[in-house]
Amino acid sequence: MKYFTIVKYHPCVQLAHAYEHLFVSTITEYLYQHNRYKLLDYSLNGETYESGVIVVNGECYNNESEKLLNNIATMKADLGSEKSGYLPVAQAISQIGAEEPNMLYVGNPERVIKELKKLNTKSWKNIDSVSLLPDTKAVNEDIVDLIYPTNQLSNINSPLELNIEIKDQPLQICALWCELARFIGLSVGQRICHNFSTYFSSEHINNDDTTMTYTATFSVNRHSQSEINLEEVALLSRKTINEIITPDVLMRFSAYLSSASYSHNPHFAPDISYTAQNLGVLIGSQGWKNIATSDNMKKILQAVSYSLHYGSSSIDL
Ligand SMILES: [Zn+2]
Repeated sequence: MKYFTIVKYHPCVQLAHAYEHLFVSTITEYLYQHNRYKLLDYSLNGETYESGVIVVNGECYNNESEKLLNNIATMKADLGSEKSGYLPVAQAISQIGAEEPNMLYVGNPERVIKELKKLNTKSWKNIDSVSLLPDTKAVNEDIVDLIYPTNQLSNINSPLELNIEIKDQPLQICALWCELARFIGLSVGQRICHNFSTYFSSEHINNDDTTMTYTATFSVNRHSQSEINLEEVALLSRKTINEIITPDVLMRFSAYLSSASYSHNPHFAPDISYTAQNLGVLIGSQGWKNIATSDNMKKILQAVSYSLHYGSSSIDL
């Protein structure tokens, strides 16, 4: 299995959307705990359509991720336990609340849990085996609106931001930093969303000639169960950064860049337009081979700084 596209369906669109978040979050966290990282080892995306159809697709870039995701069709989302108040479910509903423009209404929490459990016991279908989804069977009307958007706007809080910055560096170092910042941003971002119910809404790079700043932006649900504590976010971010920048992972990261080939495996290679837009230059396979050296990695790690911003508070990591 190199590529996979698997599907599930629930007639309540927002419940399906919450399940998509629960599943993707569970799988990403599972891969993270097995030292498999987005960009380096795999890609994984979820999408829920208006019909209630959930599509999860991705690609394994190596045997290790392939082995871990071999049974993805029967893997279950972590819904938590009754004792913990089904915390992951509450977090997923907060996340989709941060993603949706309108406030969500959850009618009957017990039924929501029951339906999520039912959805969890059904296997995912490989898209290759699907002829029509949803099929034309009549749906039970009282489960269609278990969660639905109200006509009130979400009133989203000011966002949470993670900044990764580098100053006064030559072009080649900046190019390598762009990729490394993105790699770190994706891993830290996934963990922030998993633990603090935020929604990873965007990432961009600001280049003002001397300073380059990568910013990952997270939407925060104002109605989520607990207010964001920036100190706690900082603690988790620091821990994740330390886990990501070990010599072993960095060596794998330079091997990934050095082996990039736009003719053989373009998905598993840095995005050409990302470097072109942020630095105004193109870097091909040969360029990455020259740049992704351990010396250059060391230079970046000495020069890079990290910070978090939320409302009027900021913390340097
Ligand atoms: Zn979503």
